[in-house]
Amino acid sequence: MHNAAFAALGLDAVYLAFDVVPDRLAAALDGARALGIRQLAVSLPHKERILPLLDEVDDVARRIGAVNTVTLRDGALVGSNTDWLGAVRALERETSPAAKRAVVLGAGGAARAVVYGLVEAGAHVCVLNRSPDKAATLAAELGAGASGPLDALADHRFDLLVQTTRVGLGSDESPVDAATIPAGCVVLDAVYEPAETRLLREARARGARCVGGKWMLVYQAAEQLRLWSGKQAPVDVMAQAFDEAS
Ligand code: NAP
Repeated sequence: MHNAAFAALGLDAVYLAFDVVPDRLAAALDGARALGIRQLAVSLPHKERILPLLDEVDDVARRIGAVNTVTLRDGALVGSNTDWLGAVRALERETSPAAKRAVVLGAGGAARAVVYGLVEAGAHVCVLNRSPDKAATLAAELGAGASGPLDALADHRFDLLVQTTRVGLGSDESPVDAATIPAGCVVLDAVYEPAETRLLREARARGARCVGGKWMLVYQAAEQLRLWSGKQAPVDVMAQAFDEAS
């Protein structure tokens, strides 16, 4: 996605994929500093453990508690989070989250970013998770109004549903019974592999408006590109690159 965007914008840059040797994250960052690498996109399992190793972490990433982007600024490695914006922009393909009733499924790193984004966008947010204590902690920390167990979805009325558990990742499972999803509801599944998850398939069959995790990924990557280059990313080019790689 990044390389397709660089080609479209005429940027002389390349994104490369590296595995970090277990327990050598600090050394990997020193290597990035020494090489003058302009940006790192950080994925699991490093998003939380990277925070104390950076020169700076911006306020939003600190509040979310996860960094998915590290950008070199004046010689310093600065951590930020673009997942929250990716989720909000993905939802905005269908509707504005402002004043909507939103349920977020999950209470991991992706859920923290999504809840932050929805609260910022003015939605009324409820967090439901397999481990309800984690949902309650997340809700209290990030300003969501309610929380509960995953199987309580039927007890809630909502306009937006954002799925951030790992259920459905590489499998044909869904974390919730689609009969609890109202027609007209907007459903975003953060899982992007497969592109059409069981949740999205079943929700669409019930008349929901569905947004795939691809769009969250594309919009968060577009913000990453803006952070290091200052340029507006060609979102459609990035989405097409995603499709070609899937
Ligand atoms: P994480 O921090 O490990 O959180 C995992 C979440 O999944 C927890 O809420 C966990 O519940 C729940 N879970 C795991 N197995 C479950 C099961 N069998 N039944 C019910 N709940 C279960 O992971 P993460 O970083 O938040 O990532 C979650 C998903 O979001 C991944 O699929 C990832 O690829 C995706 N994601 C997508 C994007 C994007 O741009 N589209 C960005 C970030 C992440 P407990 O608390 O009870 O363990």
